[in-house]
Amino acid sequence: MALQFEINAVTPFRQNCTLLWDDESGEAVLTDVGGDVPFLLQSVADKNLKLKEIWLTHGHLDHAGGVVEFLKHCDVAVLGPHEGDDFLLQSLPETTAQYGFPVSPVPQTRWLNEGEQLAVGRYVFDVLHIPGHTPGHVVFYCSEAGLLIAGDVLFYETIGRTDFPRGNHADLIHNIREKLLTLPEETRVIAGHGRMTTIGHEKRHNPFLQA
Ligand SMILES: [Zn+2]
Ligand SMILES: [Zn+2]
Repeated sequence: MALQFEINAVTPFRQNCTLLWDDESGEAVLTDVGGDVPFLLQSVADKNLKLKEIWLTHGHLDHAGGVVEFLKHCDVAVLGPHEGDDFLLQSLPETTAQYGFPVSPVPQTRWLNEGEQLAVGRYVFDVLHIPGHTPGHVVFYCSEAGLLIAGDVLFYETIGRTDFPRGNHADLIHNIREKLLTLPEETRVIAGHGRMTTIGHEKRHNPFLQA
């Protein structure tokens, strides 16, 4: 019995949409539904899972651009990000049009705040607010499974870009230090792009986080 996950790289940006599920109850959640919706729907169906919610870490198009299409096929609740990313979700029609696949604004989101708890079956995830890459960026941490869904905050030996609208490099570094580097070192990190890492590895080898 365990919390299971499958990482699916979606969109031309190879964004890591993660399917999380409790193999006892079959309850499942998808994080950051950026695109490639038929593929994601098939992945859920193949495993006979009961999809409960979509969780969004932040409002960038490669993380949220597939939500509207997904909801046409599967009616589930959408949670996150923090309200600070409302401007990004509202501007999705324009930003996605630049890439040739315009979408409507994301509907029926429930904003998340620091300290809230979400669940996949019996596994509880804490919501941590980590502004910097975007003002409303949140991450999802499950202490029992030792797993962090980090979005575009922390990557293998690097950190998120802060040159986008309302990005803030000092905020990002401060929040990573205070809220993520304080997690157990063995915590596995699923980043928004690229390979997985751990908190311990980033503490020692991430050039942006050295003292
Ligand atoms: Zn991003
Ligand atoms: Zn991204």
